[in-house]
Amino acid sequence: MDRVVELDLVVTELEHVSVGGRVNFELAVDAPAHITETFTGLTDLGPELGLTVVLREEPLSPANPDDLQLVVTLLGEPVPARALAAVGNTLGNHNANIQRVETLARRRLHCIEMQASIDPAERESLATELLSVSTRYDVDIAVQEEGLGRRTKRLVVMDVDSTLIQSEVIDELADVAGVGERVAEITHRAMNGELDFHASLRERLALLKGLPVSALDEVEKRLTYTPGTRSLVRVLKEMGYKIAILSGGFTHFVDRFKEELGLDYAYASELEIKDGHLTGQVVGTPVDGERKAALVKEIAEAESIRLNQVIVIGDGANDLPMMGLAGLGIAFNAKPRVREMAPYNINRKGLDSILFLLGVSEQEIEQVEALSGDNQ
Ligand SMILES: [Mg+2]
Repeated sequence: MDRVVELDLVVTELEHVSVGGRVNFELAVDAPAHITETFTGLTDLGPELGLTVVLREEPLSPANPDDLQLVVTLLGEPVPARALAAVGNTLGNHNANIQRVETLARRRLHCIEMQASIDPAERESLATELLSVSTRYDVDIAVQEEGLGRRTKRLVVMDVDSTLIQSEVIDELADVAGVGERVAEITHRAMNGELDFHASLRERLALLKGLPVSALDEVEKRLTYTPGTRSLVRVLKEMGYKIAILSGGFTHFVDRFKEELGLDYAYASELEIKDGHLTGQVVGTPVDGERKAALVKEIAEAESIRLNQVIVIGDGANDLPMMGLAGLGIAFNAKPRVREMAPYNINRKGLDSILFLLGVSEQEIEQVEALSGDNQ
């Protein structure tokens, strides 16, 4: 460094990477042609200080101002070296210039984030090829455009059944009513987009007619949050996000989740109750896919948040309209048909894995957990 200062050179890049106790320090300087001989003394320092010193002369390759800056996030349990190599090769085949590679998580889950610049014309074919890498090696790969848009998200909207919680409430109600299998089969097909939402909901609700209100409390006890839910919510709140849950399920349950997790908004359909029993109908219009999309717009507007600052997470076909509106629409362990149509897919157990797409590291998540005193 003293030599660089002495020669009054301009440092153009500086990088320090530490991997498993080994430190790699790189310094790029603008230097007149053939100045390398003035640095040769540096290589002699190597053996003396126990360092490996490499000097390289490289012509300056100016960055193309039209290039897109992309962030490629790899998530796996673990991310095998073969997947990493395949992603590197795919980026190389599209003449992408990898500028940064960072490990965001390496314990419960393995997450690697790469930043690369690429010719915009290559963007689509790159994404298609990375999708096939993702399927081949069972890793999730998300390609996002880097920039302010990625770092200024402000609202997260989540579906509830099979997203925030692990089950479908209507299936649980049906189970208590003794019509579990029949209803579960209809739910599965409806969420995969094979059946009309309203007709299938009517059919399932009708099977619940006469169920006593006490069954709602019984079902409530059975419901469990998806692993990582509390952690996700805590970190998002720490980051200043507004959080909403929108459900095709029912207010009785969703209001409790809102209260318990301290969320900002919750909307769901309301079960009609007469004389202490379910009538098999809902009050007013049920919350379907279109209503969810409209609610996302309403909430964003009320909070003065642009739609490209919204993140939507869901698993069902009725979540696709709102996913399509958002800056980042994520299908979480989604039904096959939804996976094919969703902008992004995450197929990991923990809901908090979503945070890695925002560039949050495992260490940062743990810091928030430590503050809150538990880690459910
Ligand atoms: Mg769902």
